[in-house]
Amino acid sequence: MVGFAALRRLRIRRRYNAGEYKAAEALARKELNSSANRRFAVDILLRAAYNQGNWDEVLSLAERFPDVEMAALVDRTRRHALGIQKEKHRDPEPNTPRVWNEDHLLSNWFQEDARLWLCHPWGHVYWDMPKGFTLEATSPALLHLALEVLLGPWVPSTKRWPEDVRRSEGQRLALSYSGGVDSTAAMVLLPEDTLLAYHERSFPSMLSHSLPHLTFEAIAQRSGREVLCVPSNHERIRTLHGKQTGFSTANAAAVHLILLADHLDLRGIAFGTPIDNTWLEKGKRFRDFSASHYWTHWSAKFRLAGLHYVLPINHISEAGALEVCRQSPWKDVVNSCLRGVNERWCGRCWKCFHKNGPLGRDFDPQSTEIQTFLNTTPLRTAQHALWALKTQNLVDLAPHLAPCLEEDLSWWVQAYRPGLALLDERWRAGVEANTEAHLTWMTDPAPLESVDLNL
Ligand SMILES: [Zn+2]
Repeated sequence: MVGFAALRRLRIRRRYNAGEYKAAEALARKELNSSANRRFAVDILLRAAYNQGNWDEVLSLAERFPDVEMAALVDRTRRHALGIQKEKHRDPEPNTPRVWNEDHLLSNWFQEDARLWLCHPWGHVYWDMPKGFTLEATSPALLHLALEVLLGPWVPSTKRWPEDVRRSEGQRLALSYSGGVDSTAAMVLLPEDTLLAYHERSFPSMLSHSLPHLTFEAIAQRSGREVLCVPSNHERIRTLHGKQTGFSTANAAAVHLILLADHLDLRGIAFGTPIDNTWLEKGKRFRDFSASHYWTHWSAKFRLAGLHYVLPINHISEAGALEVCRQSPWKDVVNSCLRGVNERWCGRCWKCFHKNGPLGRDFDPQSTEIQTFLNTTPLRTAQHALWALKTQNLVDLAPHLAPCLEEDLSWWVQAYRPGLALLDERWRAGVEANTEAHLTWMTDPAPLESVDLNL
């Protein structure tokens, strides 16, 4: 007997194919409690909502029925919804705009209420500062440092500070915190009174703040530590030079803390930068990081601004950071996926492959992004990607990398003792003890020191 359920499906499909979406939806809704037709009904509801441009409805259905896999359609919907948001969105403009003044660099900073503005050669960017912040009470050294990390690549004069510019150091340490694996590992290794501060991109983009805020809420509930969020659109600067939205330089990730260093009484700013970006160059070639231009230049510039440049996970890899997080109270809430929505990671991005996968979370190894990146030269975060393939038994995803996966890679989870020397004594012993509580040291540094991947 042809099931009644099958007949009802046929009827719904006819309506749907005829473009009678409202009628199809009404019939489909009645099938949501039918075990035989539930998936079909959700599928029809999603497609009908999509075809009518009801983006909110598509996303809410995807949230209500997470077991019905419609990833591609939900992705397309997000892009549509984002396109509309972007069209509607206008970055704020200052009440009294200024013109860039290269002769008096600091005159390009100004404040309107709680909003700090920077006039740059191509427009303005802003930060919404916490209550009590004033530009007047901010040291020139901090403003010069902020200019250099934001505009250095395009305005060389920002790298030359007047001779007498100095700030004496404050009392506290702050961490540029994102809620991701690396900066959470940094948080775990640093003292508990370290301030946590998040840069919040203040304009619509594919980047989602929902997972970080979930992490911050969990941290506040379980430990009482608040994460200070500072909204800003400074990631626009790069886009004016033909690049994607993002930080002008690596240190621009913490420009909110540089600007707040007097207000928060800071003596140091910490970054969750792992071995992949310190002792390894671009994650694939060993270098003596302590003698690198990057380290000597930036630690000296931060010192002029009365700040220690603190790299509390420079001696551990992304795999080591994952292990620290896995053993921490934040294992269930830490997340590096930038595209997560509805309290869930996306399961299809590169970070989901090499960070969420090793934490035991679901992801789709066949996703376009993961497949594309695995087969692209140069291979991103190469050493860590190899480890992620090997540790998750996913060698079949990238057979061309198999020759690199024959050797034991367990050293990649261990800590590299020479990295401790980059930490000021004030923090060194604590980071050392906390490292030992989570990881073992490399007994032989040769595997790391000979990394030279041509991938
Ligand atoms: Zn993801």
